[in-house]
Amino acid sequence: LFAGETEFVKGVVAMSGLPPADRIEVCFAGRSNVGKSSLINALTGHKNLARASNTPGRTQEINFFTMGNHGYLVDLPGYGFANAPLPVVEKWQRLLKQYLSGRQTLRRAFVLIDARHGVKSVDEEIMSLLDSAAVTFQAVLTKTDKVRKSDLEKSLDISRKALSKHPAAFPELVLTSSEKGDGIATLRSIIAGLE
Ligand code: GDP
Repeated sequence: LFAGETEFVKGVVAMSGLPPADRIEVCFAGRSNVGKSSLINALTGHKNLARASNTPGRTQEINFFTMGNHGYLVDLPGYGFANAPLPVVEKWQRLLKQYLSGRQTLRRAFVLIDARHGVKSVDEEIMSLLDSAAVTFQAVLTKTDKVRKSDLEKSLDISRKALSKHPAAFPELVLTSSEKGDGIATLRSIIAGLE
């Protein structure tokens, strides 16, 4: 679907910088190190596409990529900034809130959850934000290759319970491993099905 057609468009630091809302978009959120860049790279078939989002200075931007003619893929950098100064955190949260509440073409958010841990309190923050912005979101478990089946069941349980409390949550989770390629085709077809 996206291979060879994905390009970095721009990093946005203020609502005025958003590209025109002339096509659908999906966004990806997750705390840092959850495997977001790896997943975006696997999805798009690029090796280093999402690296831009992890470079210093890019981590407080909303990063836009094209998905061929299908729409925009939007990378929301890691949340849970333990080390960032408060004004930086507040500015970022304000932008995030404005973006999520105001973007008419945003069709779905994918919230990445580490399969080893399941939904954690930092994940709850973004989920609540998505609830209040009424943006449908779908949880994506990452790094499933790193957990045993029994542990995976456990974190699935934890995650399903947590998700059931969020009105904007889509009930079905997607299990992925960027390393093994598991779940990537599923995620692609979910995105391809959005209009
Ligand atoms: P980001 O900070 O969320 O963008 O996370 P990265 O994509 O940079 O991944 C963080 C670390 O987890 C890196 O060392 C990756 O190699 C590793 N990682 C990411 N996805 C997977 C996966 O599916 N399986 C395994 N085993 N490791 C992964």
